Amino acid sequence: MNIFEEVKGAKTIGISGHIRPDGDCVGSVMGLYLYLKKICPKAKIQVMLEQPADIFSCIAGVEEINSDFEPITDCFDVFIALDCEKTRLGEAEKYFDHAGKKINIDHHISNATGCGDVNFVVPTASSASELVYKVLEDKSQIDAEIAKALYIGIIHDTGVFQYSNTAPETLEIAAKLIAYGFDFPKLIDSTFYEKTYVQNQIMGRALLESILFMDGKCIVSMIDKKTMAFYNAAPHDLDGIVNQLRNTKGVECAIFMYETGSLEYKVSLRSNGELDVAKVASFFGGGGHVKAAGVTMQGTFHDIVNNLSAQIAKQL
Ligand code: 5GP
Ligand code: MN
Repeated sequence: MNIFEEVKGAKTIGISGHIRPDGDCVGSVMGLYLYLKKICPKAKIQVMLEQPADIFSCIAGVEEINSDFEPITDCFDVFIALDCEKTRLGEAEKYFDHAGKKINIDHHISNATGCGDVNFVVPTASSASELVYKVLEDKSQIDAEIAKALYIGIIHDTGVFQYSNTAPETLEIAAKLIAYGFDFPKLIDSTFYEKTYVQNQIMGRALLESILFMDGKCIVSMIDKKTMAFYNAAPHDLDGIVNQLRNTKGVECAIFMYETGSLEYKVSLRSNGELDVAKVASFFGGGGHVKAAGVTMQGTFHDIVNNLSAQIAKQL
């Protein structure tokens, strides 16, 4: 895909990504936004996205994100959904549905066919940000701010080049991006590793209360609404907990969940080996990648663990 060819002539362009935007979502959306602003100076381009976490305020243009999700008055000529299929666009889905032309760029295996009129879905790609880099035809238009946004996306979805989705091409693209000369060690620290005191406290609590089961092959932990309120924590304050659980020796599957409503939990799944967690999440209506997936589930904590265990046991 060549993004310039796809948006050529459009007077209005909308860009969005998934609810609870993570590093790859924000990075790919903002990288594409900054690029399109340069190559389509006459078009009105808008990012319609939930407000990203404060750590992403280092990305140029985030203050221009529109999170109001007003009712549609004028349909977008082109609307681009990044890092998800349309049902995970949240309140931005209506803009996608009514757009003159729908474009979908994604790397989730659970979104195999794509949901746009034009699709660029590559499940083997490390990140949506890597795919955005590929569709930017005129590389001479890339600048340090665009490179920074895409680099953040790649480091977040690869766990700083650790996860198995890191391919030689991922590193080649990352190498080209750091050549633009931004402070990448600082970016990695401030957006990926650094935690606030409260975030560390909640993580400590989640680790302390975690439970091993299936002969130590699975680990689960949960944070309820009361605990989140006690720490005044938002969902993004829980980022990284499931990865820490996954680091437990012997564990093949890590499960972390937090309470989102009465008998409702947002579940994160991570695999350390052969287990395909996208399959497990998809069974319950969620999705994601083979080694990192998520789903929202109903029931008590114990019901959910039991239901997940049955699906995990089928594979282990
Ligand atoms: P996380 O556990 O970090 O929220 O998500 C892990 C991966 O699964 C991410 O790539 C995310 O986009 C995807 N994912 C998380 N929750 C859901 C969900 O409810 N539905 C789908 N389709 N994908 C999800
Ligand atoms: Mn992603």
